[in-house]
Amino acid sequence: MPIAITAAVLRERGASYRIEALDLADPGPGQLLVRIRAAGICFTDVGVQFYEQGTPLPQVLGHEGAGEVVAWGEGVTGYAVGDRVVLSYASCGSCPRCAHDTPQYCANFMALNYAGVLPDGSVPMTNGGEAIYGGFFGQSSFATYALAYPRNTVRIAADVPFAHLAPFGCGMQTGAGTVLNSLAPKPGQSLAVIGTGGVGLAALMAAADSGCAPLIAVDRNAERLTLAGELGATHLIHADGRDLTLALREILPDGLDFIVDTSGAPPVARAGLEALAPQGQMALLAVTPPGTEITINPNVLLAGRALRSAVEGDADPQDFIPRLVAMHVAGRFPHDRLIKAYRLDQINEAVADMKSGATIKPVLVMD
Ligand SMILES: [Zn+2]
Ligand SMILES: [Zn+2]
Repeated sequence: MPIAITAAVLRERGASYRIEALDLADPGPGQLLVRIRAAGICFTDVGVQFYEQGTPLPQVLGHEGAGEVVAWGEGVTGYAVGDRVVLSYASCGSCPRCAHDTPQYCANFMALNYAGVLPDGSVPMTNGGEAIYGGFFGQSSFATYALAYPRNTVRIAADVPFAHLAPFGCGMQTGAGTVLNSLAPKPGQSLAVIGTGGVGLAALMAAADSGCAPLIAVDRNAERLTLAGELGATHLIHADGRDLTLALREILPDGLDFIVDTSGAPPVARAGLEALAPQGQMALLAVTPPGTEITINPNVLLAGRALRSAVEGDADPQDFIPRLVAMHVAGRFPHDRLIKAYRLDQINEAVADMKSGATIKPVLVMD
C-alpha cells in the first residue's frame, strides 16, 4: 500500500516549491523506505530549480537526507528498523567505475540521480493520480519519507542530530572530499578556498585539519570571512574588486599549491589559475548557469599546473561519510556552525536565504 507523505514539489522551472500531500510507492526489491528527519539544501537543488538540466517536472528534489530506516524490500540486508542513516548520491554498483570504487563517476550517474524515475522506470509518487517524479539522487528527500538504496544509505552510529547529519550527504562530502581525497595536501602545503559557502567552508575545515598553511579564504562577504578565520583560515582576502591574482601572490609570491574555487565566476577562476605554483592544482566545484565559459591563457598551465573538477569529493559515501562524522564528533569538523534549520514548509524562505547569502547551509527539519 502506498505511503502518505508530505513533500515540497517543484512544478515549474524557476517557480517556488509547493507543499503537497503525496502517495509514495512501497519499497520495491533492493529499496529502503527512510523516514526523513532532516534534509539539507544544496546548490544542485537550486540549479535544478532555476536552470534546465534535463530533470523532468513536477518533481520532489532534495539530496541531503538524514533519517531513520522504516522498512525495506526484497533482497536488502544489514539494516534494522530505526537505524539512523545519511542518504547520499546513487550509483549502480555494477559498471566499471563502480567496480573500481569510483562510484562518483558511475556510468549510470545521470540515470540514477537525475532521471526523475526509479531504476525500473516507474514514477515513485502521485498526487491524486497525477505522476510526481522523484528518485532525485536516489532519494528525493524534501519529503517526510523517501525511497533509497543500500549503496546510498549510510548507517551512522554516532549520536549526532539529524539536522547536522544531513549535509554530510552531499555538500560537506563534496567540499571536504575534494581536499582530503582529490587534492590530498600534505601538512604545510598552501591552499586557498575561493567562495566560502557551505562547500567552500567544508573544504576549508578539511584543509585546516590537514595542516594546510597558509590557508587562505577569499569571499565578497566580510561576515563569512570572519567565520572562515574562526574555522582555521590563516589569511582572509576580501574580494572587493582588487586583482585577486596579485592579492594571492602578495601572500605567496611563488604561488599556491592548491585552490578550491566554488565561486563559479569565470574571471575569479582565471585569476586563481594564474596564482598557482608550478604543479599547483585548482579544483572547480561551482554549479554554473548553462553557457558559462572560462577563457584561459594555456601558458598558465605550463609547469604542470592543473585545472580539475571532482564529483562528490571523489568520495565513496559508505567510507567517507562515517569518517567525516567521526571528525565532527572529535571537534575537528564543526560544520554545525554553518547550519540554520527551517521547517519543510519554510523551504522557499530557506532557498531565498541561501541565494542571498543570509544562510550558509539551510537544513529542513521534518520532526
Ligand atoms: Zn556504476
Ligand atoms: Zn549537492
